[in-house]
Amino acid sequence: MLFDTHTHLTDAAFDHDRGDVIHRALEAGVERMVAIGYDLESSLAAVALAEDCEAVYAAAGIHPCHVHEACEADFREIEILLDHPSVVGVGETGVDLYHDRSTYPLQQASFRRHLEWGRSTGLPVIVHDRDAHVEVMSLLDEFSDGETTAILHCFTGDIPMAEKAVAMGCFLGFGGIATFKNSTVHEVVSRLPDDRILVETDAPYLAPVPHRGRRNEPAFLVNTAEAVARHRAVSVEELARTTTQNAKSVFRIQ
Ligand SMILES: [Zn+2]
Repeated sequence: MLFDTHTHLTDAAFDHDRGDVIHRALEAGVERMVAIGYDLESSLAAVALAEDCEAVYAAAGIHPCHVHEACEADFREIEILLDHPSVVGVGETGVDLYHDRSTYPLQQASFRRHLEWGRSTGLPVIVHDRDAHVEVMSLLDEFSDGETTAILHCFTGDIPMAEKAVAMGCFLGFGGIATFKNSTVHEVVSRLPDDRILVETDAPYLAPVPHRGRRNEPAFLVNTAEAVARHRAVSVEELARTTTQNAKSVFRIQ
């Protein structure tokens, strides 16, 4: 059994076949998925989907690339949503300096707010980091009090950053990039402690080899799990067991 810890199942890319996509995931052994919100609307949709489908959980938050479109009322509604029983994570949040550097002050304020929610609810904070390793680590450092847990999703940092994140109690998520040839994440994947590693698709983005360039979906997590298992020199079964256990523990799922 595999656990897709980061998927955007409510994305419009799945509007015409969402049920089939979830069915294919279950057939492939991807038995649990967290549908991640990136604004109020997608967070509400993620919760609705989780209420409908036993295999799906939700995370609610405002993505750094959407903070400039969110108003104060959206933030307040997200905060209320975090109490919903289907919500297992806060996010996604974080910093993206690749798409728009001008919104960094807004992104920073929003990230802090999500981290505060993580601390007050006990839910893990799901962190997006694009071209922002230094900024993300410095904000996480402000909250490295043992009461806030973060998941660095689609981790692309180097070994020293991974070691620092592990020391801070973070979990690291790996997706399609782990299947790419010559990826710098291979070494991080091979050296990460067993109890910190998660797998994810980030569907509909970043499809793993051999689906690269196409729409990604949770069923393709199998390809990522195979690559990650190979880099760690363990069987896929063992990798599945370890990462599913970690996902259940970080999302506090029985
Ligand atoms: Zn995402």
